[in-house]
Amino acid sequence: MVLKTAWIGLGVMGYPMAGHLQRKTGLDMKVYNRTAQKAETWIAKDQGKTATTPAAAAADADFVFACVGNDDDLRQVTLGTDGAFQAMKPGSIFVDHTTASANVARELHAEAQKRGIGFVDAPVSGGQAGAENGLLTVMCGGGEADYAKAEPLIMNYAKMCKRLGDAGSGQLAKMCNQIAIAGLVQGLAESIQFGMKAGLDMEQVVEVISKGAAGSWQMENRHKTMIAGKFDFGFAADWMRKDLGICLDEARKNKSHLPVTALVDQFYSEVQKMGGSRWDTSSLIARLMR
Ligand code: NAP
Repeated sequence: MVLKTAWIGLGVMGYPMAGHLQRKTGLDMKVYNRTAQKAETWIAKDQGKTATTPAAAAADADFVFACVGNDDDLRQVTLGTDGAFQAMKPGSIFVDHTTASANVARELHAEAQKRGIGFVDAPVSGGQAGAENGLLTVMCGGGEADYAKAEPLIMNYAKMCKRLGDAGSGQLAKMCNQIAIAGLVQGLAESIQFGMKAGLDMEQVVEVISKGAAGSWQMENRHKTMIAGKFDFGFAADWMRKDLGICLDEARKNKSHLPVTALVDQFYSEVQKMGGSRWDTSSLIARLMR
């Protein structure tokens, strides 16, 4: 029996992820996108059918995947009048790739359980390039049995996928990811700014220091564009502020301390005021260079 799948949200991330899943598995897939044209474009390139609502896409599906913007969007496509949960059959599984709060993951997990549906929160890391190359890192929360069924499908667009605990654990792990990135990118921005102002050739400096203890993915992949002042390479400041807001809310609840994260969040608000809402996260250097 060929599994039936649905995909909700064909944005920068969802579009290529759904493509990998369809092409590598040949599964029967229905896609829904709020802006219908994107779904039409997707099926012209990949096999599948479009649906006019999340519910219509999800009816009959064994697995429903989603990758939308934030908590409210996620509630709308699941619990809304035409939401997927209204139509999903018992025994089916909803896999959510949105970066959202742990609270909404727990809430939707509980709602799903009432309907006999599985729910796996599965936010991703790796950016647009990771999605396009099918090499994302996926952090999951939810029941073990549901996760075990979802993992082989997720691995069609991931290089690493792991269950980290009950519902919400995937989102909490993604918060750890974003907290670790925030301070690191600011440190990298300060380093490059300092070196440039000191008159060093920072391309050459990075060639050396990236091989030592200061090396990082951000240094490897973003130093050239940071030096050039080009910020059109992926995850936008607006998205980062959404994510850091989620981290700071959670930290208030679990009583952890995120002083650098809070500061960097404010730095991104300055980047937004500079017109950089859609600039990528490495644009922290732009506010240092003003
Ligand atoms: P995006 O390009 O803006 O796409 C968002 C998708 O969600 C679009 O398909 C959009 O439909 C749909 N959507 C939003 N609100 C909706 C609603 N209320 N009802 C129905 N559909 C709705 O965003 P993205 O870059 O793919 O990011 C998606 C998620 O992945 C976010 O949570 C983001 O934080 C996370 N993420 C992004 C990256 C990255 O590098 N971009 C990396 C890691 C994680 P329309 O086409 O109609 O707007």
